[in-house]
Amino acid sequence: MPRNGLFIEYEYCTGCHSCEVACKQEHNFSDGMVGIRVDEVVTVGPDKVHIDFIPFTTRFCDLCAVKTEGGEQPACVKHCQAMCMAYGPISELTKAMEAKPRSIILAPR
Ligand code: SF4
Ligand code: SF4
Repeated sequence: MPRNGLFIEYEYCTGCHSCEVACKQEHNFSDGMVGIRVDEVVTVGPDKVHIDFIPFTTRFCDLCAVKTEGGEQPACVKHCQAMCMAYGPISELTKAMEAKPRSIILAPR
């Protein structure tokens, strides 16, 4: 059985936090619990300030096991406003990553 994960092309992440909200609602998490968090990374250059939004999964992420075992997409992927998230076997996500330098793969267990 291939191991699955989340692919996030953070170059296009707008920091909208819809993935966090969708995850919380899907799992009915109480306050303080969340399966994914979006962090803001600020890089100051000589003439520009860059802001990247980078989502990362927490220990509460189960990759939406109930949904995905039923053939559905994880809640965060489904509700990503920028459509910059994907779910699937890590071997396939790695291939997608080769063409997308500003991206990450998250594979919580
Ligand atoms: S895969 Fe499911 S549990 Fe994991 S962050 Fe996305 S919505 Fe939350
Ligand atoms: S829903 Fe998509 S665009 Fe919005 S913060 Fe999450 S990963 Fe970024």
